[in-house]
Amino acid sequence: MPKHDHPIRTRYAPSPTGPQHIGGIRSALFAWLFARRHGGQFILRIEDTDQKRSVPGSVEQIMAAFDWLGVDIDEGPRIGGDYGPYVQSQRLEMYQQWANWLVAQGHAYRCFATSEELAEMRKAGRGYDRRYRDFPAEHSDEQAAQGMPHVIRFKMPLAGRTRGCDMIRGEVAFDNAQLQDAVLLKSDGFPTYHLAHIVDDHTMRISHITRAVEWLPSFPLHLQLWHAFGWEMPQYAHLPVLLNPNGKGKLSKRKQQFADSRGKTVPVLMQEFQAAGYLPEAVVNFLTNIGWNFGDDQEVFAVKAAIPRFDLQAVNPANSAYPIAKLDWLNSQWVQRLPADDLARRLKPVLEAAGYAVDEALLREVAPSLKVRLKSLNDVVGMAGFFFENWSEFTPPAAEILIQRKMDAASTLAILRGALPVLESLEDFSAEAQYSAFSAYAASSGQKNGAVFGSLRAAASGQKVSPPTFDTMQILGKAESLRRVKLAVAALENAAP
Ligand code: GLU
Repeated sequence: MPKHDHPIRTRYAPSPTGPQHIGGIRSALFAWLFARRHGGQFILRIEDTDQKRSVPGSVEQIMAAFDWLGVDIDEGPRIGGDYGPYVQSQRLEMYQQWANWLVAQGHAYRCFATSEELAEMRKAGRGYDRRYRDFPAEHSDEQAAQGMPHVIRFKMPLAGRTRGCDMIRGEVAFDNAQLQDAVLLKSDGFPTYHLAHIVDDHTMRISHITRAVEWLPSFPLHLQLWHAFGWEMPQYAHLPVLLNPNGKGKLSKRKQQFADSRGKTVPVLMQEFQAAGYLPEAVVNFLTNIGWNFGDDQEVFAVKAAIPRFDLQAVNPANSAYPIAKLDWLNSQWVQRLPADDLARRLKPVLEAAGYAVDEALLREVAPSLKVRLKSLNDVVGMAGFFFENWSEFTPPAAEILIQRKMDAASTLAILRGALPVLESLEDFSAEAQYSAFSAYAASSGQKNGAVFGSLRAAASGQKVSPPTFDTMQILGKAESLRRVKLAVAALENAAP
C-alpha cells in the first residue's frame, strides 16, 4: 500500500439540485473507494452557493442514495464531524474573510463594474477587460466602505504558464493569457465554486480532490489560488465523465429519457435505478467498473472486494460511453447470488407496491425458482404475481396462452387430458418427480417435452412466462395443480368442442 504522510481524506461535494445523477455518484464512489483503501475518511459537503438552484430535500436524497449503495460517510451534514459545518451556505463568513485577505495581499481585487458595463463587454465579444485590476487601493476601500456593490476577482498572472499534476492525467500545463480574472466572491457575499472549494478543501483537510474532468479548464486558476494562499495543495484527480450510450455527448440529466438500442429507457438518476428494480449490489458493481477494472477479467465483484485493489491512478482518463446494457446482465448475476430468503425479502416490497398482499412463507417458497429468470426485481410482478392472487378465484387463461407454438386447440387438449392421470398418480409431487413423470409421458405420447411442459405451465400459472413449470406446480400443490389443469381442459372443450 503506498505510504501517505497525511491521513487520506476525500469528499463528494454535490450541489443540492435534487435527484442525484449517476455520474456524480460514480465520482463519489471512486473518492470513497480511495479513502477506504487507505483507511481514510470520506466526507460529504453540500455546495449550495447557487441558492436559486437548491432544491429542498436534496441532502436526504443524496444520503439515502449512499445508504442504499452501502457507501458510508464519515463526516457531513446530519452526521457532523470536526471540520463542519459541511454546508457552504453556513460558511459564508469564512469565504468572505479569505476573499478579503486575498485583496489585502494583492492577489485579488474588488471590481465595481455594473451589469450594464459587463453586458457591453460581452456584446463586444470580449471577456472581462480587467478594468478594476489596477484601481488604486484607497479608492477601492473607499467605495467598498460606501457600500458600492462589487465582486472580488482573482488577479490571474497575465503571461507565462501554469503547470500542475493530475493523478489520472499526469502533467498538465496551461497558458495564463487564456484565463480571465475569475470572480471569487459575488456581490451578494456568496463565494463562487473556485474560492469555496479551496477554502473548504483546505480547512476540511482534504488530501485528494476527485472531480469531473469538466473542471480541468479551471484547474490553472485553482492552482494559482492555492499558490496565492500559500497552503499545501491536495492532489487532484479529474475523473472521466459518462457519455450517452451511443458514445456521443455527455450523459445529461435532461436526457434521462434516452432510450437504448432496444428502445428501453436508460436510467440516469439514482432513484430510477431503484424504481427499475436493480439491486444496489449490481448498481455499485456496475458503476465501479466504468473506467476502472477489478482485474483478472472479473466483472462481477462486491464493492468491498474492490477496496484493496482500488487506485485513482488506475482510472482510465478516457470518457466512456454509458455501458447500460451490462447492468441487466450484472443484475441477473447478483440476483442469482442472493440467498433465497434475502431475495424474498427484497421482492416483498415490489409485490406489495403492485398491490399484492404477500404471504411471506409462500414468497420464500417461490423465490428460489425465480433466481435464474429475474433480470430486474420488478419482473417478479409479471412472472410470479399470480401466486399471490386468491387461488380460489383462478380462471384459466385464454386459448392463445394455453396453445403453444406449432400446436392447436385439439393437440393441446389431448396433451392436457393425458396429463391428468399422470398428475393424479404422482405421490411424490416434487419438481424432480414431476419432471421424470412428464418426460416419460411426453416420450410415450410422441410429444416434445416443450409442448407438454409449456401447456402445463400455461394451465397451472395462467400465463406464458412463469417460474419453471414443475416448481410452479410443486408450490401450488397437487390438488390445486390438478384443479387448474382440469379448468384448462374444460375451457378448451368449451372453445372447440
Ligand atoms: N459542486 C461541484 C460540482 O458538483 C463540486 C466539484 C468538486 O468536486 O470539486 O461539480
